Amino acid sequence: MSLSPVVIVGAGHAGVQAATSLREEGFDGEIVLLSAEKYPPYQRPPLSKAFLKGEMDIHGLPLRAEAHFREQRIDLRLGVAATRIDRQAQQVELSDGGAIGYGHLILATGARQRRLDAPGVDLPGVFALRDIADATAIRERLQAKPRIVIIGAGFIGLEIAATAASLGAETTIVEIARPMGRAVSPILSDLYLKEHRAFGARFRLGVGVAAIKGREHAEAVVLTNGEVLPADMVVVGIGVVAEDALARAAGLECDNGIVVDEHLVTSDPAISAIGDCAHFPHAALGFRTRLESVQNAVDQGKAVAARLAGKPKPYDELAWFWSDQGDLKLMIAGLSHGVDKWVVRGDPATRAFSTFGFRDGKLAVVESVNRAGDHAAAKRIIGTTKMLTPEEAADPAFDLRGLAKR
Ligand SMILES: Cc1cc2nc3c(=O)[nH]c(=O)nc-3n(C[C@H](O)[C@H](O)[C@H](O)COP(=O)(O)OP(=O)(O)OC[C@H]3O[C@@H](n4cnc5c(N)ncnc54)[C@H](O)[C@@H]3O)c2cc1C
Repeated sequence: MSLSPVVIVGAGHAGVQAATSLREEGFDGEIVLLSAEKYPPYQRPPLSKAFLKGEMDIHGLPLRAEAHFREQRIDLRLGVAATRIDRQAQQVELSDGGAIGYGHLILATGARQRRLDAPGVDLPGVFALRDIADATAIRERLQAKPRIVIIGAGFIGLEIAATAASLGAETTIVEIARPMGRAVSPILSDLYLKEHRAFGARFRLGVGVAAIKGREHAEAVVLTNGEVLPADMVVVGIGVVAEDALARAAGLECDNGIVVDEHLVTSDPAISAIGDCAHFPHAALGFRTRLESVQNAVDQGKAVAARLAGKPKPYDELAWFWSDQGDLKLMIAGLSHGVDKWVVRGDPATRAFSTFGFRDGKLAVVESVNRAGDHAAAKRIIGTTKMLTPEEAADPAFDLRGLAKR
């Protein structure tokens, strides 16, 4: 049965990679890449980093030059959303009134901001950060050195906080648990709390948001303990949820994202799902997860293209991630899920160190702050047969690079 046309819904990191890799794998059929956004496909990470700081403009964001899509015969349709999947007819209905048949459909619909459940969340002056329009609006507002309240101390909230503080905004971060609590070790969480205070931010920890108040725009955030934080602007960064509405409406199995098997195939064999929207079993880790990272989106884009080109392999790529906050460059290799022992390599006081997390005696994750060498080594050790003990990891004299190269 012919796979052509391959229709890809979503032109983020995952969708663009899938289209590109299909050509690299020799797929010669038709490729249609649908994007609900009007901008040429772009990188999201700079939106909370260089772009927000004003160190990069819109021209630095594109994922690929426009010529790439033409040359690779990728039919990129900007501002055209898929509105319905007719699985029986193998057809996708489009927001421009048209429809397109598919041989194989790839859902790369990403994620959307989790909505804060509090009165006042729709007031002008309340922002979330997911796309270029959001980043542009926040960037413009920051120029006035506002009183900004950031709700959520995850990666994005803290990246915005570091930039806001550096631009002279009076910055307060509200967090119900601990900074980056879902993703990093307590050691790292504590360090970042201290560093952000040094950058100039104030924290309200262990408390939630009861309401956002204001007449015509946001003027204050009311906390669950009754405290009122005056604000000129509010940014909500409490995580994302998978964009799986299209899949759900089509009757595909969904549970914290679109459920796929180890080959990234959904409950319908003619449909795959990749990137932020996919809930997948990690072949090497042995558990199901949904990841929100460029690495995952890109590697799953490559994996689905390889499978469609007749080279199937269970998805087992090492997860890695980065986050820039002020002058702290954090890089994470592996996942902290189930880690039962942490050790530190280097001295956190020098602001250049790594934490090594072990699961059942095996290295599972390395978090490196301003230590790119440890990150590079970790990527070559985690998930391999190379054995590293916690004692060796914590010993600065131990030759980590040597082990990685072996
Ligand atoms: C501000 C910010 C900073 C980040 N920083 C980092 C970082 O430092 N490192 C890192 O690894 N990751 C980072 N991430 C996460 C990373 O950007 C995502 O994991 C990545 O973009 C996922 O790629 P994706 O293609 O799965 O989804 P997305 O990039 O979200 O792309 C999905 C696209 O699909 C489109 N779409 C959805 N539904 C439809 C439809 N029905 N029809 C047509 N199009 C549709 C959406 O509009 C969107 O353009 C950051 C994210 C944000 C928002």
